[in-house]
Amino acid sequence: MHRITVVGGGFAGLTAAITAAEAGAKVTVYEAHHTLGGRARTAEGPYKTNEGPHALYKGGPHWTWLKQRDLIGELAPLPPLEAARLRLRHKGTLRRTPPFAMLKLLRRTPEQAPVDKDFMTWATDIAGEEGAIAAAHYSAVALFHHDPGTLSAAFVQERLRRATKLPPEAHYPRGGWASVIDRMAARAWNLGVRVETLARVDTLPDDHGPVIVATSLDAARLLLKDSSLTWTSGRTALIDLAVRTRRGDAFAVSDLDAPGWIERFTAQDRSLAPAGEQLIQGQIPIAPRESRADGIARAEHLLDLAFAGWRDRVTYRREALANGRTGAVDLPGTSWRDRPRVDRGDGVYLAGDQVAAPGVLSEVSFNSALEAVSLALNIRSRAGLDLKQA
Ligand SMILES: Cc1cc2nc3c(=O)[nH]c(=O)nc-3n(C[C@H](O)[C@H](O)[C@H](O)COP(=O)(O)OP(=O)(O)OC[C@H]3O[C@@H](n4cnc5c(N)ncnc54)[C@H](O)[C@@H]3O)c2cc1C
Repeated sequence: MHRITVVGGGFAGLTAAITAAEAGAKVTVYEAHHTLGGRARTAEGPYKTNEGPHALYKGGPHWTWLKQRDLIGELAPLPPLEAARLRLRHKGTLRRTPPFAMLKLLRRTPEQAPVDKDFMTWATDIAGEEGAIAAAHYSAVALFHHDPGTLSAAFVQERLRRATKLPPEAHYPRGGWASVIDRMAARAWNLGVRVETLARVDTLPDDHGPVIVATSLDAARLLLKDSSLTWTSGRTALIDLAVRTRRGDAFAVSDLDAPGWIERFTAQDRSLAPAGEQLIQGQIPIAPRESRADGIARAEHLLDLAFAGWRDRVTYRREALANGRTGAVDLPGTSWRDRPRVDRGDGVYLAGDQVAAPGVLSEVSFNSALEAVSLALNIRSRAGLDLKQA
């Protein structure tokens, strides 16, 4: 029987552990924190916040995999009325529909967008400057970067398409992502996976067997003492607010004048805040020269536009900065294939959201975890692995 060690018990580590155990391997997971989940943890207590707004995209490969195993659980349904309360800030005021020029870009597929050109140059040719700027800023909801227009056109276009699909791809597990993590942990347990928490791994022993390093890329760089393990990512100011309920609050606001997104999560899932209160979470990507306070000031401006009287209604508030924690972004001339490869040699494999695997956000963690397991177990293809699981 194969023995596999997984370092990190986040979404990637748990995906790898379950997949390897399903294929018959004996798996041990070491997690530094006292609970599993990593960036997919949900806060305990009356306000069930994720680390920033967290959506599970239905079109992703992880969706089918989780669904087949009954791991998604109950989803918070999006009431049609709430969907209608999506607001877009454009030229300083709130509107209900995107600028017409932006719609031209939604007809293009990611394959039609070049890898080696920046999104702004490519999109301006199709939709004009105004449409291109609006589209770039909208796409920030799924890429967390302060200037999406400077990134690879193919990369941004894929996120734009996913984030604007109708019906929406974004779904929310009731109770936050922790509910999915709990079910994944239970499945791993039932498959005989050994999980050790509060177990930080600082070095790999010389005689290690196959190891899947499913940490952030920063942590992997330290653990493997490999300075080449870097890739670009975003920097985003996060704000979580609970406010007393007021009829007519927006469901979500997208900033088309600068990247930014604010969403009232209790619109779909009442369980996230006490009765009579609403949980609002916002993400404002910021430039290297900007501070968290700059991002929060922009968030407050959006809140002023869309949530009347919110300052007098606040019952809970938290701010944070997610620096390099929101997954990979690809610059012009690069794609996921150019990121640090999964196979590091000597029985070491990487899984995580900044490594060489396709997908949006956590889908990269998922895809790389499957790739790492198929390489570690010497199963020739992902398809082979999937067949084995069926
Ligand atoms: C603000 C924000 C919003 C996001 N929104 C979305 C979204 O809407 N949709 C989406 O799909 N994704 C979203 N993401 C991305 C998603 O959270 C991540 O892609 C995913 O959770 C990464 O999982 P992972 O297992 O690869 O890494 P992590 O979650 O970072 O897990 C790594 C684990 O390894 C552990 N670890 C680290 N070093 C060691 C060590 N030396 N020894 C043992 N254990 C170690 C850590 O404690 C951690 O538990 C968002 C992320 C952020 C920050």
